[in-house]
Amino acid sequence: MALSIQHIIPKIGAEYHGKNPDATIDNVSIDSRSLQNNPLTLFFALVGPNNDAHIYIDELIGKGIQNFVVTNIPKDLGGKANFLKVKNTTEALQQFAVFYRNLYSFPVIGITGSNGKTIVKEWLNFLLSPDYNIIRSPKSYNSQVGVPLSVISINEKHNLGIFEAGISTINEMQKLEPIIRPTIGLLTNIGSAHDEGFANLGEKIKEKLKLFVDVDVLIYNKNKTIDAFIKNSKTFTWSCKDRNADVFISKKTILDKTLLHIDFGDHHFDLKIPFLDDASIENAIQCMMILLHFGYDYKTIESRMELLYPVEMRLKVKNGINNSTLIDDSYSSDFQSLKIALDFLESQKHHKKKTLILSDIFQSGLDKEELYAKVSQLIISNKINRVIGIGSTISEFKNKFLNSITFKNTEDFINAFDTLSFGNETILIKGARTFEFEKIVALLEEKTHETVLEINLNAISHNLNFFKSKLNPETKLMVMVKAFGYGNGGFEIAKLLEHHKVDYLGVAFADEGISLKTAGITTPIMVLNPENTSFPSIIQYQLEPEIYSVKGLNAFLKISEQKKLYHYPVHIKLDTGMHRLGFQENDLPELIATLKNTPSIKVKSILSHMATSDDLNQKQFALSQIDLFEKLSSNLMQELKINPIRHILNTSGISNFTEAQYDMVRLGIGLYGISNDAEEQHYLENVSTLKSIVSQIRTINEGESVGYGRRFMAEKTTKIATIPIGYADGISRSWGNGLGFVTINHQKAYIVGSICMDMLMVDCSEINCKEGDQVIIFGESPTVNLIAEKTHTIPYEILTSISQRVKRVFYRE
Ligand SMILES: *Cc1c(COP(=O)(O)O)cnc(C)c1O
Repeated sequence: MALSIQHIIPKIGAEYHGKNPDATIDNVSIDSRSLQNNPLTLFFALVGPNNDAHIYIDELIGKGIQNFVVTNIPKDLGGKANFLKVKNTTEALQQFAVFYRNLYSFPVIGITGSNGKTIVKEWLNFLLSPDYNIIRSPKSYNSQVGVPLSVISINEKHNLGIFEAGISTINEMQKLEPIIRPTIGLLTNIGSAHDEGFANLGEKIKEKLKLFVDVDVLIYNKNKTIDAFIKNSKTFTWSCKDRNADVFISKKTILDKTLLHIDFGDHHFDLKIPFLDDASIENAIQCMMILLHFGYDYKTIESRMELLYPVEMRLKVKNGINNSTLIDDSYSSDFQSLKIALDFLESQKHHKKKTLILSDIFQSGLDKEELYAKVSQLIISNKINRVIGIGSTISEFKNKFLNSITFKNTEDFINAFDTLSFGNETILIKGARTFEFEKIVALLEEKTHETVLEINLNAISHNLNFFKSKLNPETKLMVMVKAFGYGNGGFEIAKLLEHHKVDYLGVAFADEGISLKTAGITTPIMVLNPENTSFPSIIQYQLEPEIYSVKGLNAFLKISEQKKLYHYPVHIKLDTGMHRLGFQENDLPELIATLKNTPSIKVKSILSHMATSDDLNQKQFALSQIDLFEKLSSNLMQELKINPIRHILNTSGISNFTEAQYDMVRLGIGLYGISNDAEEQHYLENVSTLKSIVSQIRTINEGESVGYGRRFMAEKTTKIATIPIGYADGISRSWGNGLGFVTINHQKAYIVGSICMDMLMVDCSEINCKEGDQVIIFGESPTVNLIAEKTHTIPYEILTSISQRVKRVFYRE
């Protein structure tokens, strides 16, 4: 892509303000962190419900970016770059993509449906890439923003497109259709339930079908509900039930494979796919339909379909050996996803040193020389310290990489593993599936047991934005990351919040703040509960203490005067009714006198904490706390002639007493996806999922018992699964003995007998499961809220009780 700004302006209806009207661009970005941002980037400053990329423009100009699509030109930046001013930057991005899509004409497969879109897209890419130069949506980029970004990556070399479209409400698909402009439509499984955004199933189907208004052929699983909505498209249908479909399929299980028998007109053939579950079978059939439509012979279809594999869509962060951090993306390798992975590496890097382990890249569309030159540029601009290339092609181009070492294949790498010394670095592992990089991940991964707490970083961003959207735009945000981010993780979450430019982080004790600062967090950190002995290190690490008593104030003053500090920021805590920490009304005269007398500290903020913000039955008490806060803080401000940040609301305060948001709020549990209000819970995304596996399965007879004290007695033949997680991992014993359950293969399995220190047992008589299967301890079901309610505690305790021996894995979707 090389386009002149002048060419783009009318396409997106922009007004030009700038200094270089002759500029050209060769790529588009919306991600301020992306290191691919260069002088030829056109940056779209997107505005979400409460996040606004305009705040990054200043920083980006500093990095050399010159062209921006904006809704307004940030103060003081006029004349410093090219600004294309539009009403709505997201719509401008979409208009740009429509224009860009129209520059190309080749077959495009458009995929939509409720489930399976991404898998089908990835499989089609795998099945068709021997014969086509394919451009496809990276990961699951299928939204109002993801689709335009995917389409904008098309170049001259491509001759087939595969794009997915996801929508959540009506009127969205008509925006995506002209961007994708599919010529072949594929409708994947439509869930029978209707989602939030649609009045009923019919409306949902109708909306999805809008992607296909102009296709040459529409492929779908024939059924009456959908048939009724299909107007004049040419269709190519399949079914396992309806003989009227173009392709009729019967299936049979043979060991661990499914045998499909295909009747297609006069043609009859069999093929095997390596899956047993209905969803995978359905997705595989959709792919086969495309191959049939493309006219592939049965032998080729059979041989390629047999090789289908499960697709891992996530970039996972794991703890590696010798204090290294791994980013596991070991299931794909193409240029687009390498870019995404390198951006992620940059946003998550825990260590200065960065290593990339990269296989041959299977990228259609570019010749090898050109491809590896581009890859090398990308690696240099991301300042990767060491490149380990694996594969014969990458070995051939070794000289394009600085500080690199290459191996012919994964086996050779594994043999040389001991000589490579990994440690204190972040390692991105990125390889095409055939290289079996999971073997490398296994070598590099820190060995722990199978129980993990998975943390969805996207969900955290979503929840943050949800709470921000309740606040005035100018209200500042402190996010509480105390107790190891409510049990979820300290550094990784702080790093994400720093990216979102939250104003403050809050921790309970100085050492929590010190470890964040040492890891490179620069956002200001308030320490809620500083001990006097920690004051010197608080100052050394530039942490900001909460001061809650005259005694504490004097102790801090003594040290700050010794160190000759000037205006060191502190936070004054008032007790307005919680009666935990804080100055009370009668302490104020002394507080005021002392503060008036010293230049060494400065009151950065005044805060108080509410005891009943979550309980509307206690609304009067909550309001009385707010009144007293208003009175005491105003008094302090007048007497001291200061204008500090004031804050009193925690999560439920934000929801229930929004009017008392003052200058800042302190978000805690809500960020982690938990609300005590059922209505609000609906809008939050689940952040933490505690997972384990089935260690062993046995069948016991009537009259036999399970576990200590024989507290479970089988009344009939019962299948029992043992799971390696117990009360030492933070699972309360009160959740055992038939009260609690876990989820195995989407079904509830009740806990039988008492929970042990490191294990628990469940009844899985009704569940189709085997040893090694995944078990959800909490997450979508059961939820932390449910466990808390049934065990008579609060979600906070459940989350923060998960022991540190449980490995945390962070991922971004
Ligand atoms: C923990 C804490 C918060 C956050 O509370 P949530 O209910 O988790 O939102 C806010 N302020 C103070 C002083 C806290 O200790």
